[in-house]
Amino acid sequence: MTKVYSFPRGGISYEDPAAPSRDSLITAFLPALSVIPLIQHSGGRAYPLASVGDPVKEGMLVGRGQGPGSANVHATVPGRVIRMASWKMSDGRTNDALIIRMEGSFEKLGKRNEIYPWEGLLPYDLQRLIAEYGVVEMESPGRPVSDIIASLRSSSEVVTLVVRCVFDDPWLAADYVLCKERMKAVIEGSRILARAVRAGRIIFAVSKGEKSLGDELLSQAGSWEPASSMVLVGSRYPQRNQRELELVIRNYGKRENIDLGSLLVLGPATLAAVHDAVKLKMPILDRYVAVGGSAVKKPHVVKVRLGTRVGEVFEQCGGFYGRPRRIAVGSPLLGRAVTDPDEPIMKTTYAVFALLEGQKPADPYSNCISCGECRNVCPVGLDPEELFKRTRVNGFPREEITADRAAECHGCGCCEAVCPSELPLSSTITASAIRGN
Ligand code: SF4
Ligand code: SF4
Repeated sequence: MTKVYSFPRGGISYEDPAAPSRDSLITAFLPALSVIPLIQHSGGRAYPLASVGDPVKEGMLVGRGQGPGSANVHATVPGRVIRMASWKMSDGRTNDALIIRMEGSFEKLGKRNEIYPWEGLLPYDLQRLIAEYGVVEMESPGRPVSDIIASLRSSSEVVTLVVRCVFDDPWLAADYVLCKERMKAVIEGSRILARAVRAGRIIFAVSKGEKSLGDELLSQAGSWEPASSMVLVGSRYPQRNQRELELVIRNYGKRENIDLGSLLVLGPATLAAVHDAVKLKMPILDRYVAVGGSAVKKPHVVKVRLGTRVGEVFEQCGGFYGRPRRIAVGSPLLGRAVTDPDEPIMKTTYAVFALLEGQKPADPYSNCISCGECRNVCPVGLDPEELFKRTRVNGFPREEITADRAAECHGCGCCEAVCPSELPLSSTITASAIRGN
């Protein structure tokens, strides 16, 4: 029997009937108005190359990345820039966006893509193409992939590329669908990336319940260089988290006596984007997004053009049963609130949800019933109850506030998901780690 590698402690089995099913894929209508932000990931702002009144083409560069951390931004529909908009992001930074009214003809949509051979290109050329087409990690934190390549290429260590096909959260339905629908692109994107960082091996990390997907990936990868293998991993959340995934892949390396060196972990959507940038010379135009939640009439996985407004995406899923109390992007375990339905789908948006029930207000710490559930599920071995209480007690001596331990929290949200008092544990702990108190 194939060995399954799991992280040693904590975690939860996460199911959510309000998430869309994996066989519910629809393609969204193209947006009449698209919103193209100059920041679409955790890094810096791109410099705008188009002004109000300018015509733009589908896939045209409209924002130039400004050095490390920043990524190029492209128009996703043809049209005209009708205005610029600004809004405050959840991290406090201001983002600017080009508002584009769709008009004119599409250069790529429905056309046969030209294929560009890449096998003869040097790693530096691959990195340059990946930067030119603005490829970032397609989920948080969304680092520019060319930056990741640059940092690995400057090191002399062996590199292993880990393709993360880990579906420990039903809100990853869109990544699963993309992996099935665009498997060839995912595999070739992996090979391109492996060449760019001179990786010695590719590991497909696959949830144990998806072995057939892993077998298919391996059989399609065939005997291509570099050698690829599959590692079955547990399906407890947060197995896909960088820390937990690295832990199990390192265990695999030890057991098989393989020197894996540095691990580069990327998901299928990012690798398909690498393929499109290098083989088709095309920026990211679409994102597969899981759309659902108790307020949404018809949850779906939606293939949607970047820049489509979140409110429109919900409309394409039948609209709402009632007035949603909470709208957010990401999985409900990690979601970031959306305050404006005009906020667009961006490169890192893998899920959006709307709930009829609101988030509980931050209750006083005294509501804790000391059941210990939060301790049982923390994969890092922290005491979320204690950290939460310490961060919330006014006037608690500063030196006793365990910011160092709070900094170990990676915000997986397991503690909050199981707390019977519905205390905002992970959000409070991660906020205190950022503040440093
Ligand atoms: S799970 Fe909630 S109620 Fe239970 S100990 Fe932790 S904080 Fe307190
Ligand atoms: S959010 Fe932080 S404290 Fe809570 S379970 Fe995850 S790692 Fe532990």
